[in-house]
Amino acid sequence: MRLLVTGGAGFIGSHFVHGLLADPAGPTAVTVLDALTYAGNRANLPTARQAPRLEFVHGDIRDAALVGELTARHDAVVHFAAESHVDRSIADGTEFTSTNVLGTQTLLEAAVRAGIGTFVQVSTDEVYGSIATGSWTEEQPLAPNSPYAASKAAADLMALAYHRTHGLDVRITRCSNNYGPRQFPEKLIPLFTGRLLDGRTVPLYGDGGNVRDWLHVEDHCRAIRLVLDGGRPGEVYNIGGGTELTNKELTGRLLAACGAGWDRVEHVEDRKGHDARYSVDWSKIHRELGYAPVHSFDEGLATTVAWYRDHRSWWPTAAAAA
Ligand code: NAD
Repeated sequence: MRLLVTGGAGFIGSHFVHGLLADPAGPTAVTVLDALTYAGNRANLPTARQAPRLEFVHGDIRDAALVGELTARHDAVVHFAAESHVDRSIADGTEFTSTNVLGTQTLLEAAVRAGIGTFVQVSTDEVYGSIATGSWTEEQPLAPNSPYAASKAAADLMALAYHRTHGLDVRITRCSNNYGPRQFPEKLIPLFTGRLLDGRTVPLYGDGGNVRDWLHVEDHCRAIRLVLDGGRPGEVYNIGGGTELTNKELTGRLLAACGAGWDRVEHVEDRKGHDARYSVDWSKIHRELGYAPVHSFDEGLATTVAWYRDHRSWWPTAAAAA
């Protein structure tokens, strides 16, 4: 199989590509299409010399001519490329609509024309909104609150429309909050870890009571691979990590991991429209494809913090681009 991976130089996409390249039974060719925005980093991927199966194309998913040329020589697409940070979407949602909605539609159009076999749309649990108790199944109506979540929901609906209208084999994954190495230091875990390791304070939104489910990036990537290889056309699969924590509880764990105290925490004004709680029911992917997370949160967080501590050289590059 020749696989096109969009956004493969970002956080999750790069882990996905590393996993494919480490698997002798993986695709015969992997092409990464990435615009290298502030969040993309070519150094997150191996060089062509290190990985002969990998081709890197510096380009934009909104470039219909380029996307048409690339889809014509691939069998499947895994689509990660997106503007991904909620706070940036609150500051200005323009790029979110452009990349996440129009970019996805450009890819879908090209996929239909090229006769792409399978198109995996990597989405988020944030499309469901916020839930006080219980967990969302895939049947939950979409009720996104932030411009980011709304743009992802629109992209999901567009993907399902291309499935129903054109018969494109679209499969959608909706995961919870990812963590792990190489996450851009604007998201909570790398932001707090970096600041604590630098001896600085960390900004905790509101009372810190917002609840998120945490998913190790390698568990997420394994689940996407299961969907790519064995999922059903037109289906949505929730992917969870099994560890729900308030932001305050998470902060406590990060303080402990970095040897810092609560005096290093600054309470800042809450994010506008901050969703109180996300929680996905991931029994469908467990039942149909055998997925279960293998990383415990304690172990995953410890190795993640250790990675940021041991890879200080990665930080200036990433942070300078912000
Ligand atoms: P990221 O911001 O780290 O990476 C996004 C990548 O997409 C970057 O390499 C960037 O250069 C590239 N990109 C952006 N715009 C592009 C464009 N127009 N054309 C081509 N490439 C472009 O994001 P991530 O955290 O790795 O997230 C990957 C996907 O997973 C996104 O679709 C996101 O919505 C979804 N997701 C992420 C999380 C999470 O916790 N990080 C949770 C749920 C879903």
